[in-house]
Amino acid sequence: MEIFGPIPSRRLGKSLGINIIPPKVCSYSCVYCQVGRTKKMCINPVEVDDKEEIKENVRQKLDLLEQRGERVDYLTFIADGEPTLASNLAEIIKSVRDFNINTAIITNSSTIDRPGVKESLKMVDWVSLKCDAYTEEVWHKINRPHGGLEPGKIKNGMIEFSRDYSGKMVTETMLVKGINDSEEELKSIASFLNEIKPDVSYISIPTRPPAEEYAVSPTPESINRAYNIFKSQGLTPELLIGYEGSGFASTGNIKEDILSITSVHPLKQEAIVALLKKADASWNEVNSLIEEGRITVVEYNGSKFYVRTIK
Ligand code: SF4
Repeated sequence: MEIFGPIPSRRLGKSLGINIIPPKVCSYSCVYCQVGRTKKMCINPVEVDDKEEIKENVRQKLDLLEQRGERVDYLTFIADGEPTLASNLAEIIKSVRDFNINTAIITNSSTIDRPGVKESLKMVDWVSLKCDAYTEEVWHKINRPHGGLEPGKIKNGMIEFSRDYSGKMVTETMLVKGINDSEEELKSIASFLNEIKPDVSYISIPTRPPAEEYAVSPTPESINRAYNIFKSQGLTPELLIGYEGSGFASTGNIKEDILSITSVHPLKQEAIVALLKKADASWNEVNSLIEEGRITVVEYNGSKFYVRTIK
């Protein structure tokens, strides 16, 4: 077990991480995983530390942070493996809820069809579900799942969970060049996500060294296309592309505002024109961001979009 942070996060504010799973025990071995290939592929519940021990460790960390005057917005179950594999997940969640701090969990969704996991997740205030693929072929390519998993059960589990859950549910789709970034796959993913109606559908890209060298970020055009496909399905997409933009304009510095917004949403030309007008600034600011290589212009469906350049 490891308690770490708090980490500043656009999604969760100051998030204190709780890692309850032994290193790299997971039901997937995603090609983009930043902690390398999965050492122990597993779909059965895993024995982890006792809930009291975990609670005590969280308490000590919170006391320490309080002495330093540091705030914690979320207690987040996040692992270098899959947190829902913990055999006593429900007990652990219940015990940390005693701290009266919002809870969050980042899961790969592979166990969500299990009644025990579903009930556990329902106790958490913010749940992030992974959805990188719709078709079985792409799912195998990108997530390299344990052989005992069934994609139909996972999808049904996600649908059922979304119907019963009253907290904030988001999804995360990691885009990998040449694997899940085709128009067809993205449309299928978006249409499925529309069934579960997440509050936000995050689109991310590999920003740290991946398990497999070939798992690289798609082009800015592909990222923009994914964003627009999600949007056209009625979803609320946001980009997670390695920059922590706030998505809101108002620093008073127009260049910073454009960078901040484009790290969350691609901006149409008209939107930039409106921003510049509000700030009484000229198109030179945009040209200078392009020249500095900080934003890129791409075209989609006959419109020009300005996107944050990927590192
Ligand atoms: S689900 Fe998460 S921890 Fe497991 S292999 Fe994929 S990225 Fe890594």
